[in-house]
Formats: sequence, structure tokens, C-alpha cells
Amino acid sequence: MQASEITARAIVTESLTPTFLSPEVTLSIVVPMMNERQNIRPLYEKISTKLDQLGRRYEVIFIDDGSTDGTFIELQKLHYEHPHSVRVIRFRRNFGKTPALVAGFSRSRGDVVFTLDGDLQDDPEEIPNFLAKLDEGYDLVTGWKFPRLDPISKTFPSRIFNRLVSKLTGLYLHDINCGFKAYRREVIEDIHLKLYGEFHRFVPVMAHWRGFRVAEIKVRHHPRRFGVSKFGARRFARGLIDLLTVWFLTSSLHTPLRLFGKLGFWTFLVGFLVDTFVVVRSFVTGVPIHNQPLLFVGILFIIFGFLFILIGLLGEMIRYYAFQSNEEYSISQELHLPDNYQAYDVFVPAEAHIQRGALSTVERPLFPQSSQYWRQPQLQPLWNQRNGSNHHKRSGNIPHRPTIIPL
Ligand code: UDP
Ligand code: MG
Repeated sequence: MQASEITARAIVTESLTPTFLSPEVTLSIVVPMMNERQNIRPLYEKISTKLDQLGRRYEVIFIDDGSTDGTFIELQKLHYEHPHSVRVIRFRRNFGKTPALVAGFSRSRGDVVFTLDGDLQDDPEEIPNFLAKLDEGYDLVTGWKFPRLDPISKTFPSRIFNRLVSKLTGLYLHDINCGFKAYRREVIEDIHLKLYGEFHRFVPVMAHWRGFRVAEIKVRHHPRRFGVSKFGARRFARGLIDLLTVWFLTSSLHTPLRLFGKLGFWTFLVGFLVDTFVVVRSFVTGVPIHNQPLLFVGILFIIFGFLFILIGLLGEMIRYYAFQSNEEYSISQELHLPDNYQAYDVFVPAEAHIQRGALSTVERPLFPQSSQYWRQPQLQPLWNQRNGSNHHKRSGNIPHRPTIIPL
């Protein structure tokens, strides 16, 4: 390989490192709304003032999650006033914050996607701090409400929950429940980000499990001025159940028999030893085994041991039939020549000052949006699969960043 070619490759790769602080990076702000009529306008004004100041191209996607207080009418007005930057999705009824975020993600077109609560508790002034953190190389940046201005009835259980999540998942965050987050597009397009129930809280955990780099930054938090909180004490019970699911999905799901097999083996062994002891004791003392209640404890253990192993085998069977080879890993970058390399003009970005000697001098955009070459199935967001083929057409001139690098 010629030296100039190697130089060119190195530089092209370098130029792909996203710089989220640069103005051409587009932003999508996804805001779930349930009965937040009075918060809409001040929130939009705060967001637009900040992003106009930064010279950004952006879209704000509001999701009306079954509001009954006239939220939709207010959103409708806002859309007519700012048709290019305000998009509105209206649910037929209240489906919950997670489905609202998923609906927003599926319509978002930005390079960076923000989520923000619609109650004015999160401050759009913090957006540049999130972008700066992404620029450090992180894929997901999540807020840490500091100091948190909620009643102690919320903050205390929340602290315990955060510690539990950190211990179980290995992702040390102070505030798992902060609605203010910034994602690189690749994160929300990851095929494994299947968000249902109230999994919105666990996106950082899932992203961490998939190998994305997650960071946390302190953000200002404001007390609620209008409306009421939609999540009561029940959230913690639900959160714990969801945590169990997420922990199972991200740790033991891939090899169920390893978990249940082990559990089954030890349970069976305990039962077997207990019953052996009962039999030996009956020989020694002459007490018939059916007069020893311990016998039944042993039998129960033996039965449970078998059941655990059976559950593990069933899990393995489900896993086998649900197996999709491209879901087993998450690719960050790939360096390779296209199959038809000879006939293919190498793309060289106009701005890259590189020695073009051995390469074609034809200049083309680095990411040709219409090129089918880029359509990698694993880059397809799950919720976009139906509209996937025309996703690029719909996204207009907002660039899409594939994670695969052409050389
Ligand atoms: N929200 C929603 N659907 C729901 C519950 C909440 O879209 O079923 C929205 C809500 O309007 C707000 C955000 O999710 O914009 C966070 O809700 P809230 O402020 O009530 O949560 P808290 O700050 O009390 O945790
Ligand atoms: Mg709130």
C-alpha cells in the first residue's frame, strides 16, 4: 500500500470524529407532555432563545401524551407560529413517558437528540454543556439534578434507587431518573434499545451494556411552577421491578441455563443431601422417614432444582429461536474497502487537506445520503423499520452519520 494512501486514510478517519459543538450539527429536542399547558410557551421560548443564540439548526418535537388540559391546543398554536421548528405528536390517550419518548425518537432527525421534561424543571441553558461532554467522546450524556429541588418524599427513595442501580448494573450514576439527556444518534438507533413499560429510566444502563460511553453532568434543577408531578410513590415499586427486568436482560438473558442451571444444581444438591441425612438418621435412630418433616423439605428442594433446570432449558430454547446474529454485538466503526473498489471513486471530503496522489480527485460528499451502500440493517432503528427505507428522504438536508467509514 502506498504511503500517501495510508496518510489519506488516517486523515479521513480523523475528520469523521464528530464535533458536536460545530454549528452544522443538528439537534432534535424531544419533550413529552402530559397536562403541561402553561409550561409549553415559556419552555419553547427558553429552548429557541438558547439555540438561536448558538446558531443551531434544530427541531423541537412535543409529544402530547393524552393531555386533558388543552395542552394540544397550545401545541397546535405553537406549531402554526413556528412550523419549521415545532413538530407535534398527539397520542389518542395517555400511554406513558416511555412510549412518548419512543415516538419522539422515531421522528427525530438530528445528529444529537435531547430529551427534556416539559415542566420547566430542566433548564435549556445547559444544552451547550451536554454538547461539550459529547465532544469529549461520550455517546450519551445524562443530567444529575444538583441540587435537586423536589420534596424529600421523592429525593430519599430516589437516592436509594440510584445506589441500587449502580451496584447491580455497574454503571455509577447519581441520578438515573433525570429526564434531561443528550444522545448521539447511534444510541437511539441501536437495535437493542427496546423501550417499553417505563424503561426510559434505564436507557443509560442499556447503552452502557451495549458498549456506548455514558457520562453524567450536573444540571440546574428548578422547582415545578405549573401543573403537578405525574409520578407518585408507586414509581419506586415499578422502578424496582423494571430494574430486575433490565438487570436480567443485560446480564443473564444471553445464557439462561448458566443462571438457572447453576441455581437448579445447587437447589437439587441441597435437597438430595437433606434427604440422605433423613434416611441415614432413620437407620441410626429407628424413626421412620415419613415421620421426619425434614424429608419433605428435601423433596421440595429436589423438585425446585429440577424446575430451575427446566426453566433454564426453556430459556435456552427461546433464545435459540429468537437468535439474530446481527444483534449479538454493537459495532462502533468499521474500516474496509468497498467490494467494488476498482470501479469506485474514493470519497474525499473537500475540507480534508490531504495528499490526493493515489486517490481519485473526484470530490463527493462523505456521506452520500441516497447511497444504498450505507444501508446497514443494524443501523436501522427498531421503531423506524417500517419507514426505514425513506428515512433519508424525509430527513432532508440534515446529515445522517453512519458509523461505518468508507476507505
Ligand atoms: N409525562 C408524560 N406522560 C406521563 C407522565 C409524565 O409525558 O404519563 C411527562 C410530563 O408531562 C413531564 C415529564 O414526563 O414533561 C416528567 O414528568 P413529571 O415532571 O411529572 O415527573 P417528575 O419530575 O415528578 O419526576
Ligand atoms: Mg418534573
